[in-house]
Amino acid sequence: MQTERFESHQVEQAAGVLRRGGLLAFATETVYGLGADACNGTAVAGVYAAKGRPSFNPLIIHLPDLAAAEQFGVFSPLARKLAEAFWPGPLSLVVPVREGAGLSSLVTAGLDTVAIRVPAHDGARAVLAAFGGPVAAPSANPSGGISPTRMSHVLDGLDGKIDAVLEGGNCAVGLESTILYAGAEVALLRAGGVTVEDVEAVIGQAVARPEDPDTPKSPGQLASHYAPDAQVRINATERRAGEVLIGFGAVTGADLNLSAAGNLSEAAANLFDMLRRADGLARQDGRSIAVSPVPMTGLGLAINDRLTRAAADRG
Ligand code: AMP
Ligand code: MG
Repeated sequence: MQTERFESHQVEQAAGVLRRGGLLAFATETVYGLGADACNGTAVAGVYAAKGRPSFNPLIIHLPDLAAAEQFGVFSPLARKLAEAFWPGPLSLVVPVREGAGLSSLVTAGLDTVAIRVPAHDGARAVLAAFGGPVAAPSANPSGGISPTRMSHVLDGLDGKIDAVLEGGNCAVGLESTILYAGAEVALLRAGGVTVEDVEAVIGQAVARPEDPDTPKSPGQLASHYAPDAQVRINATERRAGEVLIGFGAVTGADLNLSAAGNLSEAAANLFDMLRRADGLARQDGRSIAVSPVPMTGLGLAINDRLTRAAADRG
């Protein structure tokens, strides 16, 4: 298959790919997504096949606004409050699926809940509006690899395996969405582009953490994920022989620096691109990758989550 490249103004052509049941990669503010019509089982199966994704792993559906989202999920008052505060933006809400919504069961992996997001990126919003239905979209990369934050990253991993990609620049947030279970209570399923601190400020109550025994578990949060080819060592306070060092803050002698100023938003936006670049350097001469400590506050929670998975035992 030949992967077509659309420029950012070719929104109608891009929506046409979705309408025909094809696979379209498009930029969002978090990472590039690999989209398919969420009501077309064959199209959704194509997403799993192109990514090599285990099929028990449900997908997030993308919609233009809360009104559209309410046609597919049932929103509690708390869920609505979160949607009103953070949409459009990097927050996915897991809510009970609405009966008769018509989603492919591959999207929910047979669960009675669905994860929904309203992205903030202009190109993504234009495609969603032009398509007019729910778009299931995981990150546009082979399963287990590093998420794409540039169009070139998408083509590196999926060229020839997907129908088209819509150019959308570099992803401003650079980390996947925060996933919250939002029923009568709120629980964190995955740290991401919206901070837990901001969520707690909006709802005025504590968010249950994944490590709490009572928290509903999210399928598909694999220990090893976001992994470069090279081995990764995190919380590295110095560079050892045979390592490419990705610094954070005032680190001398780093090959790359997530944010020399120690800014977590800048670090998030650079993270996946620098992991890829470090992997390229490491591959040249058989080195491994080390990453400086990143604080656990704000976006640091999500950055450390991704780094921990990148460093995890591949099994
Ligand atoms: P990705 O598409 O790679 O960003 O990953 C989407 C993640 O969303 C999955 O791995 C799940 O962990 C989570 N997810 C999607 N739908 C649900 C759901 N209904 N319940 C819990 N978690 C979900
Ligand atoms: Mg992914």
